[in-house]
Amino acid sequence: MNLKRLLSSSVCLWIVIAFISCNSPVNEGERQSKPKNVILLIGDGMGLTQVSSRYYFGEGEPSFSRFKHIGLSRTSSSRQKITDSAAGATAFASGKKTYNGAVGVDDDTVAIPTIIELASPKGIQTGVIATSSITHATPAAFYAHVYSRNEHEAIAQYLLHSNVDFFAGGGLEYFNKRRDKLNYLDSLKVMGFGVDTTGLNPVEGKPAYLLANDGMPKMVEGRGDFLPKATELALSELSNSKEGFFLMVEGSQIDWGGHANDGEYIVTEVQDFDKVLGIALDFAEKDGNTLVVVTADHETGGFSLVAGKRGDIPDYRLLDYGFSTGGHSASMVPVFAYGPGSEDFGGIYQNTEIYHKIMKATGW
Ligand code: MG
Ligand code: ZN
Repeated sequence: MNLKRLLSSSVCLWIVIAFISCNSPVNEGERQSKPKNVILLIGDGMGLTQVSSRYYFGEGEPSFSRFKHIGLSRTSSSRQKITDSAAGATAFASGKKTYNGAVGVDDDTVAIPTIIELASPKGIQTGVIATSSITHATPAAFYAHVYSRNEHEAIAQYLLHSNVDFFAGGGLEYFNKRRDKLNYLDSLKVMGFGVDTTGLNPVEGKPAYLLANDGMPKMVEGRGDFLPKATELALSELSNSKEGFFLMVEGSQIDWGGHANDGEYIVTEVQDFDKVLGIALDFAEKDGNTLVVVTADHETGGFSLVAGKRGDIPDYRLLDYGFSTGGHSASMVPVFAYGPGSEDFGGIYQNTEIYHKIMKATGW
């Protein structure tokens, strides 16, 4: 075969390949390779048993079932085999392993840029939502840089000066009952936030909802639909952005149910979180340009679903809750991804890779 024929046949081949790839069927919501928007959903303390619980309790098919790209995340922190939420969230927000307790700082306590700080200057709108205080370790790692997660008032100061365009959660007391006597509710308004401390009502300015002094109520104590509603509201606000948005939503209290070794607490918090998954996936399906990633920072409680007992005899037809610790455990946690870029989330990898995969997919 001479060179000319080789060239022309390879050109033909490329045309055929291009034609095939242009016409291959793709799922709704997975049309583009580069997502414009990212929704990161973190179930704090949500191991595989916590996810499994949704399949035994609650109505209808779990939204977890809608994901096709699933991986496992290795959760250890830089100095500890068992991570805490601060180091775990810093891994997602900044892509670095750090020590337990660290919020947005590396192992030498040096501040490291967060996904929000990197994306926002590019015109990306950003939001954080939690059922804990908004200054709690997980949401804080996306906008603050402190050596210790206990520095709630310093974290509130970071939020005030942050690039966050929408936030909702608890933590009012770190804004209006501060040791330095400053009234951060006024300061938030000066910084362009529209603050509401009573409910998810329309506001003037960047929406800022502080709806409990510290953590929001538990589901079993009447939190109602705060998390799904806040997520819907954030999506409707942030999706007005031409450049795209980044939204982090945390089911904070799945972890607290684990610490309390309270199965009912876990199960009801997971059900609530699963509703948020449904909202995010519905949005992403319609939009076609949104990457949804669901994961956890670690497992909490060594939670298991074990056989219930009739008298002393285990009965495999019944389920009961089991726990092996009041703290976190070292097991890997699942990662679920949907939308453009989601193909990259299969496999077993370090928690820091979640950050790198999002940054690679979006080009932020
Ligand atoms: Mg948390
Ligand atoms: Zn915990």
